Amino acid sequence: MSYALIIAEVRRGVFEERNLDSAGIAALLGKEAVMLIPDGAYEAGNIAETVVKVKVAEEVFLNPLNLKNILGQVFAARGNPDLIVFTHSSFGMESAAYTAGAFGFPVVTDVSGYDKEKGVFLKSYYSDKIFGEFKASGGPVVISVRSGSFKEFAVDKAAKAEEMEGAAPVETRTFVEYVEEEKADVDITKADFLLSVGRGIGSKEEIPAYEDLAGRLKAVLSGSRPVIDKMWLPKPRQVGTSGKTVRPKVYLAMGISGAFQHIAGMKDSECIIAVNKDTEAPIFQYAHFGIIADIHKVRDKLKEIVG
Ligand SMILES: Cc1cc2nc3c(=O)[nH]c(=O)nc-3n(C[C@H](O)[C@H](O)[C@H](O)COP(=O)(O)OP(=O)(O)OC[C@H]3O[C@@H](n4cnc5c(N)ncnc54)[C@H](O)[C@@H]3O)c2cc1C
Repeated sequence: MSYALIIAEVRRGVFEERNLDSAGIAALLGKEAVMLIPDGAYEAGNIAETVVKVKVAEEVFLNPLNLKNILGQVFAARGNPDLIVFTHSSFGMESAAYTAGAFGFPVVTDVSGYDKEKGVFLKSYYSDKIFGEFKASGGPVVISVRSGSFKEFAVDKAAKAEEMEGAAPVETRTFVEYVEEEKADVDITKADFLLSVGRGIGSKEEIPAYEDLAGRLKAVLSGSRPVIDKMWLPKPRQVGTSGKTVRPKVYLAMGISGAFQHIAGMKDSECIIAVNKDTEAPIFQYAHFGIIADIHKVRDKLKEIVG
């Protein structure tokens, strides 16, 4: 039977919204969707033709070594699918690659679009500046889909519920614990005014002076990745692709060069002001206002003005 096998993303008993993207791409490709979900009281919704509850615990299901054996059972019972869909989460990234390697299937990760005419999967590069087209052949295609890319294609379906026994867990890798994300003292995504500092501040000793300026400006202090990696500011304060995406009314960037990973996280701010001593710094291409100067001097001048 031709079908798309969707591996549901669940965490601590919660069925994640990003599963809509997996259901969406199956619908976009016109595939009948069979969704695998572990044992538990998940509100899976009617987004696949068939929802198969695998009678194993969530921690067993989320282990790609176990999942491989479960998939083997599904293939034996239903035949190979055309498509195996994971979300592009840390679980999906690892499991898509592992599954493809284990079965010798082709894989395309981080899929964010599909060109129906050409029949190719699309992958975004450099914050959507260019897209790669991928055609896969020679077996069920394993994909992981980027969150938010396909959910509008998901449709309500009268899901048929089924159950299956899961293969015995593989003992070579076992679940230890969930590690909580570092708690944020402040949510930088909610701030109207962000004062963001980069490597250009020079050292951790400079942080209090910028914190002081942020307080006077009624701004929240955030930073580029090096500032977080050096532990000058905590992780929840990081702006960029591996940090937070922010859209404040004012984004004041001091000593930040403007690498695309940073720009992707702040380019939609209403007003971007950049301070940098390098006239060629890429951030100036995105800034509404630019100041070419030493950031520490600008900091002290601003303090003087604001009081
Ligand atoms: C997978 C991956 C994910 C990443 N994710 C992120 C992310 O989420 N966020 C992020 O920010 N980066 C991210 N990066 C890192 C990114 O590529 C850059 O290395 C980083 O953004 C650079 O930070 P920066 O601008 O603070 O430092 P730099 O690039 O070193 O720039 C410092 C700037 O300060 C200026 N400067 C120095 N001294 C002064 C002074 N006294 N006065 C005025 N200007 C001065 C310099 O001219 C320079 O332009 C990621 C990278 C990878 C590979």
